[in-house]
Amino acid sequence: MTVRLYTDFDGPLVDVADRYYRVYLECCERVPSDTPKLPLSKSAFWELKRAQVPEREIAWRSGLQRPEQTAEFVRWRQTLVHSAPFLVYDRPWPAAIAALEKAAAAGIDLAIVTMRRHRELLPAVAGYGLGHLFQEDRRFCLADDYQKMGDTLDKPQLLRRAVTCLPPCTQAWMVGDTEADILAAQRNNIPIIAVTCGIRNETQLGLHHPEHIVRDLREAIALILKSAPS
Ligand SMILES: [Mg+2]
Repeated sequence: MTVRLYTDFDGPLVDVADRYYRVYLECCERVPSDTPKLPLSKSAFWELKRAQVPEREIAWRSGLQRPEQTAEFVRWRQTLVHSAPFLVYDRPWPAAIAALEKAAAAGIDLAIVTMRRHRELLPAVAGYGLGHLFQEDRRFCLADDYQKMGDTLDKPQLLRRAVTCLPPCTQAWMVGDTEADILAAQRNNIPIIAVTCGIRNETQLGLHHPEHIVRDLREAIALILKSAPS
């Protein structure tokens, strides 16, 4: 009897709001403008991200309204959001780590499935002290030179790879914070628990019909432990 949890990394395990906001401010700074820029507050910015408002519109609402300005904003954002100088602003959720420890102690097999690249994931796993929770063969991420096609295409494939590589289990669950996680789980016939502590709000997550929506990884793991046949 093996219960396995595939968890996304950014969102359920790591609070990325600060990184995303600092990247946003940097993008506003780097795009030239002869009219005043109007950077949003962190909470206003994060609310827009969670409502899945496109980057172009976030730029527009920040005073960058010419098409070439919004395009440049989007380009900078893509360049910077996963870059080392900004990854340092990530913080693991303390309650998530405690919950994972509890899941591991209860015999749940833990695996990470993330759109981070190898070079972005490994230092974080080591730095946050997660190595003992996720063995090396249970860290599924993108190769450093992988050409991304988009999360909703890449994530189902990556989860497929994880399912195929690992030994069969009696029951599997996926936890994630975006539509890409929900789609990946659905394509692989795995029930998905969406968490609202990440980059999408409950309304956006609900549009994709996950099995459950809970606040965070701690609540997701409580639900898994409760439903695990003893
Ligand atoms: Mg995520």
